Amino acid sequence: MSTYNFSAGPAVMPKPVIAQIQAELPSFQGSEMSIMEISHRSQLFDQVINEAEADLRDLMQIPDNYRVLFFQGGGTLQFTAAPLNLATKHHHIGLLDSGHWASRAAEEARRVNTQVDILGTAAPTHFTTLPRLNKPVDQTLDYVHITTNNTIEGTAYTALPETGQVPLVADMSSNFLGQVYNVNDFGMIFAGAQKNLGPAGLTIVIVRDDLIGHAKQLPSMLDYQLFADKRSMFNTPPVFAIYAAGLVLKWLKAQGGLNVIEQRNRVKANLLYDFLDQSTLFNCQVKPADRSLMNVPFVTGNPDLDAQVIAGATKHGLLNLKGHRLVGGMRASLYNAMPLAGVQALVDYLAAFEADHAKGEFENVSN
Ligand SMILES: *Cc1c(COP(=O)(O)O)cnc(C)c1O
Repeated sequence: MSTYNFSAGPAVMPKPVIAQIQAELPSFQGSEMSIMEISHRSQLFDQVINEAEADLRDLMQIPDNYRVLFFQGGGTLQFTAAPLNLATKHHHIGLLDSGHWASRAAEEARRVNTQVDILGTAAPTHFTTLPRLNKPVDQTLDYVHITTNNTIEGTAYTALPETGQVPLVADMSSNFLGQVYNVNDFGMIFAGAQKNLGPAGLTIVIVRDDLIGHAKQLPSMLDYQLFADKRSMFNTPPVFAIYAAGLVLKWLKAQGGLNVIEQRNRVKANLLYDFLDQSTLFNCQVKPADRSLMNVPFVTGNPDLDAQVIAGATKHGLLNLKGHRLVGGMRASLYNAMPLAGVQALVDYLAAFEADHAKGEFENVSN
C-alpha cells in the first residue's frame, strides 16, 4: 500500500530529494563528512547557499533590487521582524484579517509598539472568504500585511489588494513556490520552509532593498540589513535545512519551474474540490473563487463521522487528514510534493466511504 502524507506542516517533501539526502548523507561531495558536520564558512557550504539563492531567484524571477535572506525562527519570528525593520516611519501598518495567522501577525506587531489597523476582515463569513479592503488604503501606512495562503481556513489570494504606494508584506508560508506571484508586487515576502520548501528551521525573506536599513538599534538577529550585508551568515545558519531546501529548489527547476508546478497544483486541487462539490456527504465551505490550491478543509457536519473518516483514511495510508483544532473536520494539504496519485487515492477513499455510508443510512431507514 502506498502512503500519502497530507500534513499541513512539517509536510511532504519530494521522494527523490529524500533519496538524495540519504545517499549523500555520509559523505557530502566526497568530503567524508556529512552536510551536518561541515563548517558554514567552508567552500562546500558556500556553494550550497549560493546555489540555493540563485535557484530561488531563477524560479521566482526575483529582481536584482530584492535581497534574499535565510533566517531561523519560523514564519512567526517575521511577525516581529517585519514591523521592526519596515515600520520605521510611522510605526503604523495595515493588515487584512484573513484568519488565524493574520491575527497572530497583528498581535506580534502590536507587541513591538506598532499600530495595526485592520483594513478588512473575513470574520463575518467565518473566514470562508478572503477579506476585501473596506476603503482606500491610507498612504501614510508603513506597509500592508497579507497572508497569501491561509493554511487553516483554506483561502488564498490570486489577485492582490490595491495598496497604491504602500508596500505589501506577504506571509507566503504555505503557498511559497506553489503558485506564481510577481515579486515586484511586494515590498517583502516571507515563508517558513516546512510547508512547501523543506525541513523546519529555515525561513526565507525576500525584501526590496530600499525598504531596509532604516531601523535603529535592532537586535542583530532581527536586522535585515545586517543579514543582507553578511549574506545570512552573521551567525551559524541552519546548514542542513538550507541544503535540503536547495535540493527541493533544484527538483522544482527539473519539473519545469513554477508555471508547470502551478498547473499541476490546479489539477490536483480541482480533482478534490470537484469531488467535494458533487458529494452529498462531504462539503468544503470555502467560497470557490477564494479557494487555496494548497490546503483544502472539508467536513461532513458531524464530528463523530469526521473522526471515522480520518481513522479509515489512516488505515488506507492517507495520513494526517485531521483538520486544525480551530476548525475541526478534515484538511488535505496538497503541497508541491504531493503527487496527483495521492489526491486520486484520497478521492477514491472518500467516494467509497460515502457510498458505504449511504448504504448504512438506507439500511437504517429500511430496518
Ligand atoms: C505555519 C504558518 C506560520 C507559522 O510558521 P512557524 O514556522 O511555525 O512560525 C505562519 N504563517 C502561515 C501562513 C503559516 O502557515
